[in-house]
Order: sequence, then structure tokens, then C-alpha cells
Amino acid sequence: MEPSKARGHFHPISILIDDIARIFTDLGFDIEDGPELETEYYNFDALNVPKDHPSRDMQDTFWIKPRSGDTERHLLRTHTSPVQIRYMERKMKAGIEPPYAIVVPGKVFRNEATDATHEAQFFQVEGLLVGKDVTLGMLKGVLGKFFSELFGGETAVRFRTSFFPFVEPGVEVDMQCFKCLPTGKEKDAGCSICRGAGWIEIMGAGMVHPKVLEAVGVDPTKYQGFAFGGGLDRIAMLRWGIDDVRLLYNGDLRVVSQF
Ligand SMILES: [Zn+2]
Repeated sequence: MEPSKARGHFHPISILIDDIARIFTDLGFDIEDGPELETEYYNFDALNVPKDHPSRDMQDTFWIKPRSGDTERHLLRTHTSPVQIRYMERKMKAGIEPPYAIVVPGKVFRNEATDATHEAQFFQVEGLLVGKDVTLGMLKGVLGKFFSELFGGETAVRFRTSFFPFVEPGVEVDMQCFKCLPTGKEKDAGCSICRGAGWIEIMGAGMVHPKVLEAVGVDPTKYQGFAFGGGLDRIAMLRWGIDDVRLLYNGDLRVVSQF
């Protein structure tokens, strides 16, 4: 039999990470990486996540069995946010004060049952901008540009108040539906993407909590910052109309060969 000469290609998540990295590099952000095996300090404490937060529970987080000599607990990171801490800490130790602008795509882990929209391991993208006179208005501008570039067209962004321990104030970020939008209709009741809402819940964001800046030695009276984070898998599903997240990971060539 003739050996197969089919060329290999990138996985859709890799394609998405490349596209996101290009968009944010154009906006002046650096792309950062960090360890998937984290300490409790970087994953929770430095990010102002309190000791009694549910994410610290065995049911929600994969904790690593302690080894002799361990001075602190280790876990599989539950979000990409520890990279914010590692980055700012490294810069401050080198005597480099803000501005900082980074985007962090990476794999994260949650100890939860899998279904069509949840996997125990998935990808997030995280952004951080710290400097003088940084505002939520700037965040809206950056995210509007990001979604417009990624989905095509001029995409508006909406904030709804929310709570995350590492930001104050915190917001849920909605983007205007990229499927309804080109039709000129404000709301299309039959839209398969937004189901008539006109908006899509896409990520969480907010102004970096002063305690997070203090944890890395950045003076919160001199600098402010915004941070945002969301699921790459969800963005991929929206972008390519994939209805089950498990299709991205079960190695079915009928799916991944379409990219
Ligand atoms: Zn829609």
C-alpha cells in the first residue's frame, strides 16, 4: 500500500493562539508563558483569592500529592492568572517598573465533570495592562479591537458588573453578536450563536485589585491596571460553529482536518 502523503497541520486551538498572539502583538502586548504545575501562592494567595474560596476545594482543583520537603502545596493551575504575578514579580525584581502589557494563552485545569461545554483541561487567554492612568475605557477599546480583528467587522463590547477576587471593580464582558451584526438587525431571534440576545458572554475582566499589585511590589497609588480572561475553547467554538467542546480534544480527524 502507498504510504499516506497527507500533510500535517495545526490544531484549531493552536491556530487560534497564533491569531490572538498576532492581534495583541500588533497592539504592543508581549506574549507570556508560565508553568502549568503551580504553587498555592501563585494560583490563589497572590491573586487575592481567600482561603475559604470554593476553588480551593478538592472538588474544584487538582491538588498534587505532597512530596517530602515541600514547603507549600502544589496544584494544576486553575487559570492563567498566576502568570500575571510571575511576570510582574520578575520585572519588579529586575528594577523595571510598569508599563506592563502581556497576553497569556495557556492550558488550565478544573476538577469537574465533562460535558458539551466543559472539559477538565481547557485553554484560557489572559491579558494584563498596568501603567499610569489605565482605565476601564481603555480595556473596552482593546477588547473591541481584539474581537473585531478575530471575528471580523466592527464589534462593540458591553460590560456588566460582576465579582472576581483579583479585580475591583469586576465586569462580565459581552461582545456584540458577530452573526447577527452583518445583517443589520439588532436582535435576530433565530440566531444560532446568541439566540436572539444580540450579545455573547465572552470573558471576565476588571481593574487589577490593589492587593494584587501590592503582592508583587507595584505601588497601587502610582499605577493602575486592567486584566481580562476567557476560555479559548469557547472562542474557538463560537468562531467555527463547533457545538461540543470535546470534539476539539478527542482526536477525531474528521473534525480537526477541516482546519
Ligand atoms: Zn446573534
